[in-house]
Amino acid sequence: MPRPIEALIHQPALAHNLARARKAAPDAQVWAVIKANAYGHGIENAYPGLRAADGFAMIDLDEAVRLRALDWRGPILLLEGCFETRDLELCSRLRLWHAVHCEEQIDWLAVHKTHEPHRVFLKLNSGMNRLGFTPTAFRAAWTRLNALPQVDEISLMTHFSDADAQRFGADGIAHQLAAFETATRDLPGERSVCNSAATLRHAARAGGDWVRAGIMCYGGVPDYPEHDAAHWDLQPAMTLRSRLIGIQQLQAGDTVGYGSTFQAEAPLRVGMVACGYADGYPRHAPSGTPVLINGRRSRTVGRVSMDMLAVDLTGFPEAGVGTEITLWGRGPHGSVLPIDEVAHAAGTIGYELMCALARRVPVSVESV
Ligand SMILES: *Cc1c(COP(=O)(O)O)cnc(C)c1O
Repeated sequence: MPRPIEALIHQPALAHNLARARKAAPDAQVWAVIKANAYGHGIENAYPGLRAADGFAMIDLDEAVRLRALDWRGPILLLEGCFETRDLELCSRLRLWHAVHCEEQIDWLAVHKTHEPHRVFLKLNSGMNRLGFTPTAFRAAWTRLNALPQVDEISLMTHFSDADAQRFGADGIAHQLAAFETATRDLPGERSVCNSAATLRHAARAGGDWVRAGIMCYGGVPDYPEHDAAHWDLQPAMTLRSRLIGIQQLQAGDTVGYGSTFQAEAPLRVGMVACGYADGYPRHAPSGTPVLINGRRSRTVGRVSMDMLAVDLTGFPEAGVGTEITLWGRGPHGSVLPIDEVAHAAGTIGYELMCALARRVPVSVESV
């Protein structure tokens, strides 16, 4: 028998969350962002839940290949564009739209041989300072692209650094939105500026023609803990669950696990769960991180090890070897443990936990 750990991907939750993105930005088309193997869910697993999207956006070219292999014929956008000249051949062959964020990418296009001109998304660096042309260089880049026979249509994009919060005590997107509007004023073409946080919080003023919904499709909350999944009406698309494989009865003064970081003050029954950091559970999750035991809340105790972690069985006299433990996502009897809560306890974000789901965890799909 395999270890009892498994991940479940909930396709109806993906469809629900995608519909939430549509509702938040009713005038925009929605890219479902499926980079990083659909945020750890698996592109093939997530696609049936997200196929109502207007397009799919990702980073890796091989993910675009996988999506076309699933027979998706609609728009695909490479969010970072090409990494070298010959990537453009794949773009031509698979009809991929691609971001253009630097001069080199325009150089490659200028020498690319294609019968079908490409649709590109010219990226403005409006202040995040990762990728994109500065406001001063933007117009010249647009003019250069516009003169190329390899280019058909030029859309305009930028990315917000603080759509999930305030920035220096002020509105998180105002400065970048203003920079985008100034740099693109009187340029033709469709606009795309919103990630999940901006879609949920700012779509009324920043919606544009396309929103890029990533984390929200998977039920992760971009602005947790200010808001939670219930507030935004998002459903978990991934469950990580396992079972107890051993029980220990601690006496006062006993410790659990490496480093003896947890010491019982009184007699305490603890259960060992077949889940550790080699499964993608965060090693930094401290004692007290929430878990569900048979759908009811408890907490971890002691350090997370490679293949195991310990949970407090106080109040669970019925728990024994084989009892179901939910690490995040949906538990039995309609219970839910939001991934954001676990991530927050471990000092990270839901994004990182989803993406880190380890290959050794078997994944199955729920289509209803
Ligand atoms: C990842 C990414 C997104 C999606 O971000 P979420 O916060 O997951 O919604 C949008 N745009 C770009 C350019 C990205 O890289």
